[in-house]
Amino acid sequence: EKVLLTGASGFIAAHILQQLLDQGYHVRGTVRSEDKAELLRKKFANDKLEVVAVGELTKEGVFDDVVKGVDIIIHTASPVTLSDSDDPYKDVVNPAVQGTLSVFTAVQKDSQFRVRRIVVTSSFAAIWHTAPKGYVYKDDDWNEESQPGQSTLHTYRASKTRAERAAWDFLKTHNPAYTLSVIHPVFVLGPPIQPLPSGLQSLNHSSHTHYSHLQNPTLATSNPETRAYVDVRDVALAHIRAFQRDEAQGKRFLTAAGVFKWKEGLDGEQRDGEEYEFGIDNGRVKTVLGVEFRSLKETVEDSKRAYEALEKDY
Ligand code: NDP
Repeated sequence: EKVLLTGASGFIAAHILQQLLDQGYHVRGTVRSEDKAELLRKKFANDKLEVVAVGELTKEGVFDDVVKGVDIIIHTASPVTLSDSDDPYKDVVNPAVQGTLSVFTAVQKDSQFRVRRIVVTSSFAAIWHTAPKGYVYKDDDWNEESQPGQSTLHTYRASKTRAERAAWDFLKTHNPAYTLSVIHPVFVLGPPIQPLPSGLQSLNHSSHTHYSHLQNPTLATSNPETRAYVDVRDVALAHIRAFQRDEAQGKRFLTAAGVFKWKEGLDGEQRDGEEYEFGIDNGRVKTVLGVEFRSLKETVEDSKRAYEALEKDY
C-alpha cells in the first residue's frame, strides 16, 4: 500500500516516515521546498520513498497531483512556529485550514481515487478549554474559545481547532467513501530525527522548548505550570495504527502519556505527591490503538542523548 505523508520533514512526520518504511509501506512524502526534499531523500535513503516538493499549504490545489495513486493519507503539515511577528490569519490559521481542506478537495477531484483512510494530526490545542482545577481532558472535548489574534498561543489553538472542524465538516457535506481518524498529541518530546539544516538552531518548536529548559534549569524549576507530554515515537505509532485498525475510523484520539511539571522534564523523574492542575484520559488511544506509552524518564533521557549528539555535530 502507498501512503501520502504531508509535511514529511517535520519532527513528528519523520518518525511516522521511519516507522512506515520499517513496516514496508511505500511512502510519498511532501515537503515545502526542493532543498528539504533533497535532505529528506538523503537522510532516509530508501527505494520505497518518494519525496515531492509541493510548496506552501495556502497554494491552490497544493495536493492535487500527489494524492493520485495513494491508499492512505496522513496529513501532518501545519504551522507550529509561534512568534509575535506572525500575522494570525496569513501565517497560521489560513495555512492550517486551507492545507487541510486541500487534502480533501484533492481526493474529491481525483476521479480515479483509491484513498480509503485519512489520518489528520490535530492537537491537544483543539481539545483544551478553560476548566476547573483537577479537570480531566477527554478525546471528544473541543476548544470552543480560542480566537485568532488573542495571543500567539490562542492563534495556534484556533488554527488547529478550525482545521480539524473543516475536516469533519467536509466529511459531513460530501460523505465520501474513505474514513477519517484524528490524532491529538499533547506536548511532544523525544529524539528529533528530521533533517536539521542548521542543527539545534533549526529544531522544531516543542523540542526547542525542551532543549531551552535543559540549557537553563532555573527556567524549569521556577515554572509551576502543569503540562501533558507524549513521546514522538508513540505519536508516530498512533498515526499508523489509526489507519490500520478498523475501530479507529471516525474517532478522535487524545494522545498523551501523562502530565508533568517542567522541573520533572529535566531528568524525567516524576515526583511523588506532586499536584497537577489537570489530568488526561488516554484510555481510548490505549485500548483502540493499543499504544503503550513510554515513561517520562525514557523520553527525557533519549531526548537528551539526541540533543547532545546534535551539539557535537554542529
Ligand atoms: P514541525 O514544525 O517539525 O512540522 C511542521 C511541518 O509542517 C513541517 O514539515 C513544515 O514544513 C510544515 N509546514 C508548516 N507550515 C507550512 C506551510 N505554510 N506550508 C507548507 N508546509 C508547512 O512540527 P511538529 O512535527 O511538531 O508538528 C507536526 C504536526 O503536529 C502539526 O500539525 C502540529 O500542529 C502537530 N502537533 C505538534 C505537537 C508538538 O508538541 N510538537 C503537539 C500537538 C500537535 P517545513 O519543514 O518546510 O517548515
